[in-house]
Parts: sequence; C-alpha cells; structure tokens
Amino acid sequence: MYGKLGEVLRGELDAIRDQGLYKDERVLQGPQGAEITVGGSTVLNFCANNYLGLASDPRVVEAAKAALDKWGYGLSSVRFICGTTELHKQLEAELSDFLGMEDTILYAACFDANGGVFEPLLAKDSAIITDQLNHASIIDGVRLAKARRFIYDHADMNVLEDRLKEAQDAAFRLVVTDGVFSMDGDLAKLPEICDLADKYDSLVLVDDSHATGFTGPSGRGTHEKFGVMDRVDIVTTTLGKALGGALGGATSGRKEIVEWLRQKSRPYLFSNSLPMMICGAALEVLRILREDPEPLRTVAKNQAKLRDGLRDLGFDVDEGDHPIVPVHFRRHDDDAIMAQNMSRDLLAAGIYCIGFSFPVVPRGGARIRLQASAAHSDAHLDRCLAAFAEVGKKHGAI
Ligand SMILES: *Cc1c(COP(=O)(O)O)cnc(C)c1O
Repeated sequence: MYGKLGEVLRGELDAIRDQGLYKDERVLQGPQGAEITVGGSTVLNFCANNYLGLASDPRVVEAAKAALDKWGYGLSSVRFICGTTELHKQLEAELSDFLGMEDTILYAACFDANGGVFEPLLAKDSAIITDQLNHASIIDGVRLAKARRFIYDHADMNVLEDRLKEAQDAAFRLVVTDGVFSMDGDLAKLPEICDLADKYDSLVLVDDSHATGFTGPSGRGTHEKFGVMDRVDIVTTTLGKALGGALGGATSGRKEIVEWLRQKSRPYLFSNSLPMMICGAALEVLRILREDPEPLRTVAKNQAKLRDGLRDLGFDVDEGDHPIVPVHFRRHDDDAIMAQNMSRDLLAAGIYCIGFSFPVVPRGGARIRLQASAAHSDAHLDRCLAAFAEVGKKHGAI
C-alpha cells in the first residue's frame, strides 16, 4: 500500500516546495538566546518567543537541575494515578496567584490546555463564540466540543455582539480570544469583550500565551493590563514562551471549572504529568518575576526602541507596545518578494528574523515579524536597526 501513498506525498511535497510554502528547520548549534549559532555563524535572534530572556538564564537552568537532582527525571504516570508531586501542586498554586485566578490545572502544553478545555465544559446546547484569528489550538479544541460554534471577524465588536445575540438561546455561552494575536502583536479588546459578555450573559476565556509574564504592570497578562482580572473566567497559557520557554501549559480559572477539568479533560487524564525540571524552573521564573521587575522593564524598553527606530528609518510599523513588532510592506506591490528577500539578506547581515507572506497572512499583508526580548542589549538593537537600514535601502523598502 505505501508505494501509492509515498507517491502522492512526494507530489504534494514538490507542490508546496514550488509554491515556496515548504518549511525548513534551521538547526541551532547552541542554546536559545539573543545570540544564536546557526550554520556555523553567530547571529542575533529576533524571532524567538523568549520575551523575558529567561530561556537560558543561569538561575532558571540551576532550578531545573536542582529539581532533576531532587525529584528524578520522569514520573512515568499521569497526574491522577501516581504522577502528582508537591512541586506540581506548588506550581499550580503559584500560577493561580500570579494569574489572579482561583485554581490552575497544568498540561503538557498550551495546545493541550486548549484541546482539553472546551469539550468538558460546553455540551451541544451551549455556544462558543470565537475570534476568526484565534490560535490553531483553540480552533482544534473548539472542534472537539459538541457546542455550536460562532466565529466573529477579527476584533470586530459589532460582529461579536451579533453572534452573542444569535447564541442567546444557548444554555451557556463562552467568548474565546487570544490575549495577543501573534501575527500583528495586537491585543484583544478585553474591556469591550467583557462588557459584551456581561450584557449577553457569557463567560470569557483568554489564551494569554503571548502575554503571560510580561504584559500588564506586573506581567500577569492582558487581563491585568486592561484591569479586567476579575471579569475573565478562564485563562489558558503556556510555559513555553516568556516563562522559561521549555514546555508546559495551564488552564487557570474559577474553582469549579478547574475541578471539573481534573475529572474530565482528556489531555490531562490521558497524558503524562509535567517533568519536575520544568516545574522547578517555572517556579524559579515566577520567583524572579516577583522579586525582580528588570526583565519586564527591559523588554518593554526594547520593543519601544525597535519600533521607534524602524519608524524613524522610514519603515511601515504599527503603533503598539507589545514585543511583537511587524514590519509591513503595504506600500509596495511586490510585498511578498520584498519580505522574503529582505529576511534572507538580513540573515546574511547577522539578523535572524522571519518574513511571512500569503497564505500565512492575507494577500498584500507580507511582513517581517520581529520579536524583542529582554535578552537584547542596546548594542544588539542598534545592530538590528543598522542592518534594516542597509538592507531596506538595497531593496527599495525605504
Ligand atoms: C504558542 C501558543 C500556543 C501553544 O502553546 P504550547 O504550550 O507551545 O503548546 C497556544 N495558544 C497561543 C495563542 C499561542 O501563541
């Protein structure tokens, strides 16, 4: 049988290669950080989700080693059989405290948190109202639920209101949004969303993967930034971005919701518990955030310097205050080629960043997405801006 499938796959792979959609993996030859080694050369990294620069922080690495020494490597069990330790309970308690929620349940990844949150809570008499640009894991998680699904145009509060009206006969309603959308770094309009949820009697879930740890005055997330911490019912998030960057996810929320998920959520019940190294390291990240606001301030300062610097050079950059800084080519007809050629030449100039074009973003919306990190020094940012100036002029972008 395989001969036939192999032939089909070879054809499909050739087709996506021809369309320029084939995804290559760049192989790092050392740890994650502001400087990384790829293909034998050291370049500045502007495309990691390492917002707080803690991915290779010595304190975090030490905490992981200490947990490894104390607790061993693996648990060989799911949580409810013999895979729950004091460290898991402590991490869940500290995450609840950090996120301002009553309780938290850990998952192997936020993909699993989103995969396991909708189906147990929302039966077919309920409704899920979801932003069109929500993360793939939300889309998949929503598909697993029996509830009716309503999609609203990205960030469009009028359409959200219409969908809430359409869903008024449902037993329970849940509005679902990314806290920060990864392609533009734009924030969900949480105050308006919470107002509409109140008006039409709906719950609110925010996936704050691109916000937890560095958004809001103490880094708790978009709900802190917008002052709606007590109006969001459920937060899902990842430990794989700002909070150390290894792996792991969580759903945090009202007590009974989390209790129910512990009974019914399939990625929790049927998948292994989080390794102790990760629990120990994540606790250290939370300790750092409590005691040392430096990384939080640095990433905010760095994104502003990057954004302002690029705008001063004449690049098309949106207003914003998130470390995701997209450089657009909307004024140019050949935007996709420009994004692609520029990111190639930037890499040659020692700046690693990624160009996105259709179909990852809408036609005409090609961009280079930069991500600032607290690990970047002023000199790193200056080198990035100098390279953008040179490469941008070469390609007629500025
Ligand atoms: C990265 C991301 C995820 C997936 O997180 P993992 O822990 O890596 O599975 C889920 N949702 C959003 C919004 C993300 O940005």
